[in-house]
Amino acid sequence: MATFLFDDVVFGPVHSRRLGVSLGMNLVPVNRKVCTFNCIYCECGWTSERHLPSDGFPSRELITDSLRKKLSELRNSGILPDAITYAGNGEPTLHPEFHGIITDSVEIRDEYAPGSKVAVLSNASLAHLPKVRMALEKVDRNILKLDSGIEKTYRTLNQPPPGLKLEKIIENLKLFKENLIIQTLFIRGRYKGTEIDNTSQEEISTLLGLYREISPDEVQVYTIARDTPVGTLQKVPLEDLESIAAEIGELGIKTSVFP
Ligand code: SF4
Repeated sequence: MATFLFDDVVFGPVHSRRLGVSLGMNLVPVNRKVCTFNCIYCECGWTSERHLPSDGFPSRELITDSLRKKLSELRNSGILPDAITYAGNGEPTLHPEFHGIITDSVEIRDEYAPGSKVAVLSNASLAHLPKVRMALEKVDRNILKLDSGIEKTYRTLNQPPPGLKLEKIIENLKLFKENLIIQTLFIRGRYKGTEIDNTSQEEISTLLGLYREISPDEVQVYTIARDTPVGTLQKVPLEDLESIAAEIGELGIKTSVFP
């Protein structure tokens, strides 16, 4: 099915389900997707590469200059975004200067758009690296992925590299004692002859146990909204998402639902 890649370092602002009016920041090349995961539902399509040499990324200077220029234009037009969001064509924390870029971005935000939140959407696979963790601790909305608490489902949905166990992702999430939002995408369907459903009772009770242990500030409950590389996946209906969110809410954790 038709997926898409962002064609610039800065894109939008666009209306985002989860972040309001969002100025998107893309830290990986514009012509392909680079991610440590290869999620079967990724709206950017299949992963081309899981890593790049450090000179394969757009430079820190290009990124921060582009952000400054765009925010200056937006400020002059009187429409500043709710969020400056690092996501784009893959995993933003792969950028070798991610920490420096986030440090610069917070300063630029303070100067041009003090009311905008700096947000990062990440799969948490590199969050154990000290500089990545320090950068994620600096942002206003540190939104990290956990789609399942079961290794087999994690491998099917997220297709991580062979050595990257779910246990490591959970360990990485636990590094954040505060300032952590977990994003969990719920989905049903089939892939390569295997039934997929991370809303089953077993999946939900495993996730609930992990949310309790990790204790994030918030869990974002959502489902697919755009085309996915696999054509046999289905959205989870709003009422099911709401009932999952109600169970999470019983743990005393704030939830947001995005159908
Ligand atoms: S982690 Fe995000 S960018 Fe990477 S494959 Fe999954 S959905 Fe796509």
